[in-house]
Amino acid sequence: MAGIRAVSLLKQRALNAVAWALHHFGVLYLWRRFRPYNGVKVLAYHSIQKAAFTRRLLGTGMGPDQFAAQIRFLAKNYHIISIDHALAVATGETPCPANAVALSFDDGYLDTAEQAAPLLREHSLSAAVFTATGCIDGRCGMWTDDLVYWIDHTAEQRVSITMSSGEVRQFSLAGCARGAAVFQLREWLKRLPARERLDALVQISGQLGAKGLTARAEMPFMSPSDVRQLAESGWIVGSHSDTHPILTSLEPEELERELTASRELITAWTGSPPVHFAYPNGGDGDVDDAVIAALINAGFRAGWMFVRGRVVAGSDPYRLPRVGLFDMPLHRFALEMSGMLEVFTTRREPPRRSSPRR
Ligand SMILES: [Zn+2]
Repeated sequence: MAGIRAVSLLKQRALNAVAWALHHFGVLYLWRRFRPYNGVKVLAYHSIQKAAFTRRLLGTGMGPDQFAAQIRFLAKNYHIISIDHALAVATGETPCPANAVALSFDDGYLDTAEQAAPLLREHSLSAAVFTATGCIDGRCGMWTDDLVYWIDHTAEQRVSITMSSGEVRQFSLAGCARGAAVFQLREWLKRLPARERLDALVQISGQLGAKGLTARAEMPFMSPSDVRQLAESGWIVGSHSDTHPILTSLEPEELERELTASRELITAWTGSPPVHFAYPNGGDGDVDDAVIAALINAGFRAGWMFVRGRVVAGSDPYRLPRVGLFDMPLHRFALEMSGMLEVFTTRREPPRRSSPRR
């Protein structure tokens, strides 16, 4: 396992070095100019100010300076359009400009309103925010953030969860396994039915001495009034469900409640019903025909995933791709955006997840 990680790290370093050379010697500039890509790349950001506990434990996290550099680069070199425009490209209602990019932010963290929006405004840009409405009105938090927060704040070396079936799952938090354990535990918890997950989280917080501790103070969410102000300033407000479950794990009634509750709240906050929906987690296995039928039934016209790809004429409006390009040097971001890698690495297989996500 450690060997595989070392090879992967070496590959990333080599790619970063190649990206540095291509960016600084003007090759990417020429590529953008003479070989523009077709379709729309839709970027999905989350918090742009990853809290210290996340950086400490996971060793990743985009900062505001990195975000500002990416936006400056995009504003200068790409054609930034809205997700409404991207949807119209998918349905064939409008042509697509070359090198088109659309920006979106998931979950509804406060830094989207307080840092991202002012920065975009400086460049006369706006974006879309997909809000988990229960986080916005304070009925729930993001358990994925809480889990990282708890593990960062504990000295415990192990966590052990007893399932309703009697099965016991153990996760080591010792030494350098700590960061990896977070990913493992988080992905495992995501797939549990809601009640089982809640029960597991209660056990975990109890064992880690974290009862009542929440990441919310360090990673706060917007309020309904922040959402309204974003909408008034031209941002598109979409739904990201109410409590952020993986929709394919829900019973039909729960699924309907997640969609209608979030839709009604956003309508009340912004004055108009949301058109766009971003699937929580958003991978290939997190969307199915039943989820799409429920989205259509609830009145949404677009469903956004978290998989690699570009929106082109004829893209399925309920399986639209978005990609996350976080925490990378600007030259690597420039290479990823250019489309050059896709030309040399195109594989004949379905779209893949771009990275772990919330
Ligand atoms: Zn999310």
